[in-house]
Amino acid sequence: MDLKSPEEGYIKFNCRWIRAGPVPEGQITWINEWRNKLFDLGLIGADSKGTGFGNVSKRFKKNTFIITGSATGRLKRLNKDHYAMVNDYDLSGNSLTCSGPLKASSESLTHAAIYECSSDINAVFHVHSRELWEKLKGEVPTTSDEALYGTPEMAMEIKRLFERKQAGDEKIMVMGGHRDGIVSFGKTPDEAGEVLLNRL
Ligand SMILES: [Zn+2]
Repeated sequence: MDLKSPEEGYIKFNCRWIRAGPVPEGQITWINEWRNKLFDLGLIGADSKGTGFGNVSKRFKKNTFIITGSATGRLKRLNKDHYAMVNDYDLSGNSLTCSGPLKASSESLTHAAIYECSSDINAVFHVHSRELWEKLKGEVPTTSDEALYGTPEMAMEIKRLFERKQAGDEKIMVMGGHRDGIVSFGKTPDEAGEVLLNRL
């Protein structure tokens, strides 16, 4: 167990990255259209310090999935070179193995937790929006304020919310402990995207 600091006390995200070629272009076409649309809407982008936010993924096989690479949020347009495959992960250990031209997003385990909750979910989008976060917090399934971004606690919170039927029905969640953080999901990228757009 690798503790960040006694005060923070959470388990550090551990990413084992196998440098490899990109996933086949056809695998990312549909989610990449949505990713670019979300960028244009300002739901994916970069903050005033230039730190990127927002990521999209699609299920590949079973519990493996393709996700936007680390630090790609600030880029206006992405292509297959900006995506990584998450091959394996451990939610409680906060670790994963990924392959591709870039490392997988550091928020990959949030996506993994959602895919584990329902085999009907094939696409997960994570965006940032102050407006939506304030409007929907507590209105739609909301993770605890204590569960911070990129922690095993966040993954556990997502699973807890799925135990109530509402989470699977509404297909949108607010991340209470990750300011501005919203997650939507669906059977297809279109469903995950429209759930979000309908709330704007
Ligand atoms: Zn985020």
